Amino acid sequence: MNREAQRQTFVFKGIGVSPGIVKGKAYLYNLVDEPLTLYKLTEPGLVAKEIRRLKGALRKTEADLREIKKNLGHLNGLDPLYIIDVYVMILKDKSFVQGTIKIIEESLVNAEWALKMTTDRYRSIFERVTDDYLRRRITDIEYVSQRILRHLAGMKKPVISELGKDLIIIARDLSPADTAQIMMDKVLGFATDMGGKTSHTAIVAKAIGIPAVVGLEKLTTLVKTNDEIIIDGSSGVVIVNPDQELLKRYEDKKKIYLDTNVLTLQYARLPAITQDNHKIRIGCNIEFLEEIPAAATYGAEGIGLYRTEFIFLNREHPPTEEEHYESYSRIIGNDDLTWTTIRTFDLGADKVFYETRYAREANPQMGMRAIRFSLKEKDLFIAQLRAIIRASAKGKARVLFPMISCVEEIREAKSILHKVRQDLQSEGIPVGDSVEVGIMIEVPSAVIIARDLAREVDFFSIGTNDLIQYLLAIDRVNERVTYLYEPLHPAVLRLLKQVVDCGHEAGIPVAMCGEMAGEPLYACILLGLELDELSMNPSAIPRIKKLIRTSSFSESKSLLNEVINYSSVNEIRQRVENYMRERFPEEFNEQ
Ligand code: PEP
Ligand code: MG
Repeated sequence: MNREAQRQTFVFKGIGVSPGIVKGKAYLYNLVDEPLTLYKLTEPGLVAKEIRRLKGALRKTEADLREIKKNLGHLNGLDPLYIIDVYVMILKDKSFVQGTIKIIEESLVNAEWALKMTTDRYRSIFERVTDDYLRRRITDIEYVSQRILRHLAGMKKPVISELGKDLIIIARDLSPADTAQIMMDKVLGFATDMGGKTSHTAIVAKAIGIPAVVGLEKLTTLVKTNDEIIIDGSSGVVIVNPDQELLKRYEDKKKIYLDTNVLTLQYARLPAITQDNHKIRIGCNIEFLEEIPAAATYGAEGIGLYRTEFIFLNREHPPTEEEHYESYSRIIGNDDLTWTTIRTFDLGADKVFYETRYAREANPQMGMRAIRFSLKEKDLFIAQLRAIIRASAKGKARVLFPMISCVEEIREAKSILHKVRQDLQSEGIPVGDSVEVGIMIEVPSAVIIARDLAREVDFFSIGTNDLIQYLLAIDRVNERVTYLYEPLHPAVLRLLKQVVDCGHEAGIPVAMCGEMAGEPLYACILLGLELDELSMNPSAIPRIKKLIRTSSFSESKSLLNEVINYSSVNEIRQRVENYMRERFPEEFNEQ
């Protein structure tokens, strides 16, 4: 390829999963780049030598993995640690190792080729497995093989920090172990062909604040190491070899982004009070304990949603009561956070579980997930509830049950919770005085019976991500129908109003923890709905606080009362956009 072609500019659009703009040099993160060569072991003594080479590579690979695990020790509870154990198990697996040695001995081929044949054999076995989750586990074996091949080729593992500064990692996909390694090597950002908003790459990137874009499909086929590259994690854009004009545009964009961040951060620690003195509580949503420092920096007053199902992902065995307890104890009672809302695990749907019985469903979004799963797998549920009640001795804790669709579900969950408390007390284990009980309002039936449900609980938290999906019949992970996913649909607004009214009639607070809560455009609509609490991604907090502090509660109520009667989605959107542009010109002039 000539130099002209190499410098060609490409612009890719993927899913921005962690905001921020960075410019740097691409580093194509491939474990092994070279095609494999087969050679026959014709001379005596070569077989023994190949086996020694293989064993040496196995030892070095194991040492690498153990080193990664050791270096990540401080990330207690973060998923990569479990997956590294799985990799080591594969490395030590008798049939994997002996099978490869046998191929060297019987087919008289080099260690690389024997390893490839072993991996191919596993691949053909896994391809026949009907269970999706199990079938995907072949990637673990492939990953381990790649690491071994690297040592066979005499390549040292790439120490990214030694490759130069300002690196941006480009990869097809990143395993949890790779992602964690990258985190240690302090790269500027990363972009991958695969992955969605809930992939590990996305979650870790967001948690550590590195700009990242995923789901770029063919990026790795066009980028080469050392290409100049811009990542805009806010809008999901990746630019390869930007021309002068694009460079300039992105420099300006980056400056605006940083300036706005600094400016809005000034609002982080201030309370969310409107100009006419209406206060709304601001919480944040987290998936990992590592996000707690960010929660405090960005000004969360409490944890509005801890998605505990992330403790279950990527591991072979369910977490024990002690593991749950360890996690909850680290949040509850944290000086910077006034309350902690622990949502019981919402496994199922797009969150893969090690228990394969539940892994394959025709309509997983409407299947065995969330509270349905908990009430079926009571041992898992009880272990979690015991840990929550024990940890509640340390500070204000709230338990939140997901996807409640009828009073029977909440009554059963509460009775299990009650029994758990009694058991702990009779075992003489210290427990907190009380744990507030709440439900997610995210199924339309729960809205219709909200008045009845309100009598059963201490608070509501509206999960708009699911509520909109079920109300408008739009699969939230299907990109073909996202154009219909509309939080300003009149049906959505009217339902939200109904939930808040029912909650307030019963004297309980109503929170919102879906993505809608952190979207600046909706700030006045949410104020007008008279929600008591908004919970969002930590980095979204300063801007929302800034908007609320410059808003008027009574004006926001009038805005809501006006648009809620419109019949057309487009008219509502237009009115809200115009209102926000006029009211906050400096915030919305680009939209
Ligand atoms: C929601 O559905 O809005 C919610 C907050 O829960 P999750 O996104 O975890 O389903
Ligand atoms: Mg939900």
